Amino acid sequence: MLTSSYRGRFAPSPTGPLHFGSLVCALASYLDARAHGGLWVIRIEDIDSLRDIPGADQEILQTLARFGMVSDEPVLYQSKRSALYEKALGELQQKGLIYGCACSRRDIAAAQQRLGLAAHVYPGTCRSGTHGRPARALRLRVENAIQGFTDRRCGWFAENLERDAGDFIVRRADGLWAYQLAVVVDDAAQGITDVVRGADLLDNTPRQIYVQRMLGLPVPRYLHIALAVDGGGVKLSKQTGAPAVSTEDPAAVLRAAALHLGLGEIGAKTPQAFYAAAQEIWAEKYGL
Ligand code: GLU
Repeated sequence: MLTSSYRGRFAPSPTGPLHFGSLVCALASYLDARAHGGLWVIRIEDIDSLRDIPGADQEILQTLARFGMVSDEPVLYQSKRSALYEKALGELQQKGLIYGCACSRRDIAAAQQRLGLAAHVYPGTCRSGTHGRPARALRLRVENAIQGFTDRRCGWFAENLERDAGDFIVRRADGLWAYQLAVVVDDAAQGITDVVRGADLLDNTPRQIYVQRMLGLPVPRYLHIALAVDGGGVKLSKQTGAPAVSTEDPAAVLRAAALHLGLGEIGAKTPQAFYAAAQEIWAEKYGL
């Protein structure tokens, strides 16, 4: 039963089956929603047609259901939401914040080297025009200012947007929407109050808050959980070939995920019993 206005979400990209690391993220967002007496939805972030794998969405949804995690509202697919992203882009364009960028990866790498910038920071080459070269991607102009936020686990985290991120892409050269724009538009459209996700996205958050600010959208609370790593300390991900999580004994996998989240040993034999116990421990550890 819902007892609060809390709205949380799990937003997997369908680029492969659910692995242990993504199950831990799903569980964290689910437990946080349940501990708050709130709502939890699943959003399939299928905006990257080059990386998405047909059928992976269904596989992910079925696996989550085996673990007792079912979206409280119809599952939303980002591939069907272009009109919303287009509208947001229009608003940013009207504010004069968008410009076309003609740089290739090689151009950017060369400029970064010349200017001593980190590998992910756009050097601003096309800020004042492409000098006759055809524009490829669309970038959002950022400000030379600190954008910070207080993460529920990691505390204060801040970046100087211009120095640490640079003007970032909102629509890619291949015409696909960028994650940073789509995630912000959908978190707002779905009324998400709390984002719980992996710490690999911590340093994306200042950029997302900037987009929220520029679009006049509310800023949700954020909680970034420690990532699951393999024996060698490498983040479990679809890219590094992490195996699909086994659904043979869901309660056992949930107990392992809870250990990873620092919730200790939870002696539950079924997912139902697990959730009943885990919710309370979650609330004690991560607060409400
Ligand atoms: N779709 C992203 C991923 O699978 C997560 C987005 C988010 O939680 O903000 O890595």
